[in-house]
Amino acid sequence: MFCKKCGKEIFDDAVVCPHCGTMTGSGNVIFGGAEEKQGNGIAIAGFICSFFVPLLGWVFGGIGLSRANKRNGKGKNFSIAALAIASVMFIIYLAGV
Ligand SMILES: [Zn+2]
Repeated sequence: MFCKKCGKEIFDDAVVCPHCGTMTGSGNVIFGGAEEKQGNGIAIAGFICSFFVPLLGWVFGGIGLSRANKRNGKGKNFSIAALAIASVMFIIYLAGV
């Protein structure tokens, strides 16, 4: 599509014209999508870390959970799993020491 203000060609799903910064009013596909992926990524990172480093699992799981709550719950299951596994692993580590 073309920007309604400056007339330059921009991505069809762009939220803001990269040339002049005008809002296109076409939704929030680019920004929303990127943030959803980020929220998912950190939740999955927490899920993986929780097996090896419970502390990181808690940190990433907590961040992932707060992000998931803001983004339609994406990555929420991974975040909760990360927190749960991190807690279990922490207890196992404590019991093993
Ligand atoms: Zn423009």
